[in-house]
Amino acid sequence: MSEDERLISGSRRRDDRENIALRPRLLRDIVGQDSVRENLQILIDAAKNRSEPIDHVLFYGPPGLGKTSFAHVISHEMGVNIRVTAGPSIERAGDLAAILTHLKQNDILFIDEVHRLGRAVEEVLYPAMEDFVLDIVIGKGPAAKNVRLNLPRFTVIGATTRLALLAAPLRDRFGAQFRLDFYDIQAMQHIINRAAAMLKIEIEPEGTVEIARRSRGTPRVALRLLRRVRDYAQVRAQGIITGRVSEEALALLNIDHLGLDDVDRRILSTIIEKYGGGPVGLETIAAAISEDSSTIMDVCEPYLLQLGFLARTPRGRTATPLAYQHMGIAMKQDGSNQPPLF
Ligand code: ADP
Repeated sequence: MSEDERLISGSRRRDDRENIALRPRLLRDIVGQDSVRENLQILIDAAKNRSEPIDHVLFYGPPGLGKTSFAHVISHEMGVNIRVTAGPSIERAGDLAAILTHLKQNDILFIDEVHRLGRAVEEVLYPAMEDFVLDIVIGKGPAAKNVRLNLPRFTVIGATTRLALLAAPLRDRFGAQFRLDFYDIQAMQHIINRAAAMLKIEIEPEGTVEIARRSRGTPRVALRLLRRVRDYAQVRAQGIITGRVSEEALALLNIDHLGLDDVDRRILSTIIEKYGGGPVGLETIAAAISEDSSTIMDVCEPYLLQLGFLARTPRGRTATPLAYQHMGIAMKQDGSNQPPLF
């Protein structure tokens, strides 16, 4: 199944464009992530008092939790421009140089998927972040000359789903680093109700709870499920999202009461039934179910770990008793479900 077809994926899909209108503008519009919000408020207030740009900020965590939203909120709170780009779209050092030379004093440069910047591009970014200078080489061969340009003081906000892939020198240049966690059920309900009000969707409290429970603690998933349940309610239930309507609509979409879809269930059943409960490597699981390993790593695994269905060991992933229970598979006495040898 492609990432674009998965309803419960935290990654961006084409039909998420409507979300832009729902994006929080100010820190007070952000629900949940209390400690991140509080720390950011301090960072912003202090920078404003000193009339300086804020320190470089790094957000990390699974997709759909609000990294981009936080970056936009910071730009609104600071009253500065934000230039949005992503690691894979800055292919050459010259691309980054062009972006940097167009920045103005206090501007924010938001780099999504910052772990995907190439080495040569990173080399240009280091002095730019540290000393606000751009080192460029003009000409070729023996006549080549190094030129150093001064840049205005600006802020880089980086976002990544894979902190471990970020080169250490790059990571060190972010003075403030925040990990975004899955939201709790109350925060999810709040986010769903806020979006329903903005989209003029009639929803009952039980309807909100049912969607919140299946949203994997991820706002982007909640908004997507809300839209799909709205469609169902309009076609089958006079447009009102009740608890029952939510349940029926989401069951029809094959999303279970914990928000797991077919891909998640195939991961669990592969570990349990084909590999005796594990440990089994992630690449092996990906190959067995014909899914992209980065999807499993970014989208499925963090949530399955959070539910306590998977455990990570040095030799690979294992399924926990909770996973057996959820899948309705009996665990063997010795804790393993060894497959037959032939
Ligand atoms: P990420 O950059 O981490 O993938 P986004 O910032 O794009 O995630 O968030 C996805 C969507 O979820 C946004 O369009 C926004 O509407 C919504 N959202 C994210 N975090 C929050 C939040 N804390 N409160 C309300 N809505 C949120």
